[in-house]
Amino acid sequence: MITVEEAFELIDQQIVDFGFEEIVFQDCLGRVVAEDIVADRDFPPYHRAAMDGIAILHADFDKGIRDYKIVGQQIAGISQQALEGEATCIEIMTGAILPAGADTIIRYEDTEIVEGQARVNLEGIHQGANVHIQGKDCEKGVVMIPKGKTLNIGDLGIIASVGKEKLKVKKLPKVAVISTGDELVEVGDQPKEYQIRKSNVHTIAGLLQKQGIEFTLHHFDDDFDVIKSGLEEIVQHHQVIMMSGGVSMGKKDFIPEALEAIGVKKHFHRVKQRPGKPLWFGSNEKVTVFGFPGNPVSTLVCYTAYFKRWLQKSTGLTVNKTTAQLSVDVEFKPDLFYFMPVSLQFEGATLTAAPQKGHGSGDLVNLSKMDGFICFPKPGAPKGKDLYRAGESFEIIFPV
Ligand code: AMP
Ligand code: MG
Repeated sequence: MITVEEAFELIDQQIVDFGFEEIVFQDCLGRVVAEDIVADRDFPPYHRAAMDGIAILHADFDKGIRDYKIVGQQIAGISQQALEGEATCIEIMTGAILPAGADTIIRYEDTEIVEGQARVNLEGIHQGANVHIQGKDCEKGVVMIPKGKTLNIGDLGIIASVGKEKLKVKKLPKVAVISTGDELVEVGDQPKEYQIRKSNVHTIAGLLQKQGIEFTLHHFDDDFDVIKSGLEEIVQHHQVIMMSGGVSMGKKDFIPEALEAIGVKKHFHRVKQRPGKPLWFGSNEKVTVFGFPGNPVSTLVCYTAYFKRWLQKSTGLTVNKTTAQLSVDVEFKPDLFYFMPVSLQFEGATLTAAPQKGHGSGDLVNLSKMDGFICFPKPGAPKGKDLYRAGESFEIIFPV
């Protein structure tokens, strides 16, 4: 059996580049951009009114002029107007282009408008007040979003603003999610006494959907020939296979054997960790296969720690590392890596992790309290440590 660190190294050796694809900008959230996004104009593209009010020339104000004749209205979306000499102003609305001859905007709140005249009720104002200067945020031609960035909501707004209706992003793999087990029935079915409804495939599907990954759902009964021929077919049309169940030591756990029979090379089977010890990982030139143990907590831990790691490295998705302080002492005797469900909350500025141990890897009910998994021990910590103290910080990994 290998350690978690060794398993990570083996995962890292199987990174796949899926190339790129062109998508419509509406679908770009959370994707990794595969081209630089460049400003097609200055941002803002013209001197933009940041407030509703009147546009004046600051030199007039400096001369002591407080009463201005209103000579027009500069509304957002109309072409540029112009002041008509000393002591004139133009009413201006937020988002409008600054009129020619003006350099400063005085808010309506600081004026009185009476019969075509605006009186300014201010002792002082600086030149350029309330004007968002052309090019202040970004100049034309500058890279606004570099290739390789995972696109966030702000990026979506930028991409729309520069008129990129379509853009290149890193391609994601097509995934087959397979449940295995004679005891499993569909969500809409009434289970018999000795049966349960499938949940793992649906939790995995939910996570993949959030990630924007296309997937198909499948089921195999615990029958070697069924599994083997089913896998032979699925391998043709997917780049990733994620299976839950059938990788442990049971009499009906045929998955490792079936995978090897169809030519998927095993990179590892069984990791010194809790939960999820029976994890199986392999690949061939067509497909990368994650065989997760079927217990719901194990499946989620293995998806989070291994599949997400592989996906991030394969597609360049950004991972934000989070650490949190343990809220209570945790004792854990076996010399295994431990991924423990925790709930997270802020206590002042400190993120604390409260263990939600539950009743082991089959305790699906307990997962409702889980925000993520805390990772014991820290990388490089001495082996055999079995007491983790309240207040110590550890990495947290998130399924979502
Ligand atoms: P296995 O890894 O096949 O030995 O399964 C371990 C435990 O996980 C068994 O109690 C299974 O019934 C359960 N299990 C396997 N697959 C699923 C699934 N898709 N949804 C919920 N539980 C499952
Ligand atoms: Mg099973």
